[in-house]
Amino acid sequence: MIERTKSATATIVVVEDEMGARATLCGILEDAGYEVIGLERGSEALEAIRSSAFDIIITDIRLPDVGGREILELAKEINPDAAVIMMTGYASVETAVDAVNQGAYAYFVKPVDPDEIKTTIANALRHQRLLQENKRLVDSLQRSNKLLFEANEELMQATQAKSEFLAHMSHELRTPLNVIIGFSELLLDEVPGKINEEQRRCLNDVLGGGNNLLNLINDILDLSKIESGKMELSLRNFSLSGVIEALRSVMLPILTPRDQSLDVELEEGLPQVYADKAKVRQVLLNLLSNSTKFTPDGGRLKIEAAREDERCRVSVIDNGIGIKPENQEKIFEEFCQIESPLTEEKGGTGLGLAIARQIVERHGGRIWVDSDYGQGSRFNFTLPLAKTD
Ligand code: ADP
Repeated sequence: MIERTKSATATIVVVEDEMGARATLCGILEDAGYEVIGLERGSEALEAIRSSAFDIIITDIRLPDVGGREILELAKEINPDAAVIMMTGYASVETAVDAVNQGAYAYFVKPVDPDEIKTTIANALRHQRLLQENKRLVDSLQRSNKLLFEANEELMQATQAKSEFLAHMSHELRTPLNVIIGFSELLLDEVPGKINEEQRRCLNDVLGGGNNLLNLINDILDLSKIESGKMELSLRNFSLSGVIEALRSVMLPILTPRDQSLDVELEEGLPQVYADKAKVRQVLLNLLSNSTKFTPDGGRLKIEAAREDERCRVSVIDNGIGIKPENQEKIFEEFCQIESPLTEEKGGTGLGLAIARQIVERHGGRIWVDSDYGQGSRFNFTLPLAKTD
C-alpha cells in the first residue's frame, strides 16, 4: 500500500511493516513539510525506488520479505546521492552499524525520537545539496578546462601557421631585396658608369632603406624560426672570454666615432658555459647595439660575467638614458619600442630583445633588466655552466 501526501521540499520513502510505527513516522515527516511515501513491505520499496524519484529512504532493517540492506543497495545504485537511514531495534544495532559502513547515512534505534529524525533529515538534505553543488562545480570546471584546452590548441596552431607564413614571406622578400641592395652598391661604386651628387644621394637613401628593411626581415625570420620550434641549438662547452673579445673588435668601429668606451670584467677562473656560441654572440651583439644606441656620445659601456650558483650571469651595462620601471618588462615583447629622441634617431625593429629572450630561454636561462631611468641600464642573462664529464 502506498500513502502519498502533499508536495514538499523533498520526497521521503518510509518502509516499516508495523502499521502504528509507520503512521506515526509518516505523520511527523508530513507535519515537517515533506512529501512522504509510506510502504509496508520491502518488495514495494524496491518497486517504488525503481519507479519514483526520491531523496531519502527511512527503512526498518528487518522486514518480513526483503531486508533493509537490499533496499540500501538498490537505492545507492539508482541514486548514489540519496540518503538511506536505517531503523532498528536494540537487538540488531550491529547490523545497522554494518549498513552505515556500507553507505547508509545514519541509523536510529526504535522508538524513533521525532526531533532527532527531523534534525538528521535536515542534515542529510543539506549534505545532498552540497554534494550536488560540488558535482555541478566539478562539471563546470571540467567543461571550462576542456574549452581552455581546445582554445590553447587552436592558439598553438594559429601561432605555428603565423610563424610559418612569416618565415616563408621573409625568405621570399629577402631575394629581391638583396638584388636592390647589391645593385645600389654597384651603382654607388660607379661600376656601370659615373654618377652625379644628386644620384649618389638618392642611391644612398635606397641603400639605407634597403638595409633597414633587410634587418627587419632577418629579425622576423629569426623570431618566426624560434617560435615555430625550427631554431636548432648547437650546444657545446666554450669560454665566454673568446666571444667577448671578438665582439669588442666588432663594436670598436661603432663606438670610437661616438667616443664611447667598452670595458670587460670577467670573474677570475670563470668556468666555461654550455651553449650555442653563435646564438650567445647574437644576444650579446643585440644588447651591445642597444647600449651604444641608447647612450649619448662619450658614454661608458661594460660587459661583466660571473658565476652565480650553478649558472653564469652575463651583464651588459651602460650609463645611457635608462628605462622607466613600467617599461622594463614590456621591452622584451615583440615590436616594443619606447619613445625617446634616440629611438627616433637610431631606428631599430623592436625585435632585438624579443629574439634575445627567446634564445636565452631556449637555453633554460633568464633575461632581465635593472635600470635607473636617466642613469643607465644593466641587461642580465644567465647561461648553463659547462658539462664536466
Ligand atoms: P630596437 O632596439 O630595435 O628598438 P629592441 O627589442 O632591441 O628593439 O629594444 C626594444 C626597446 O627597448 C628599444 O626600442 C628601447 O626603447 C629599449 N631599450 C633597449 N635597450 C636599451 C638600453 N640599453 N637603454 C635604454 N633603452 C633600451
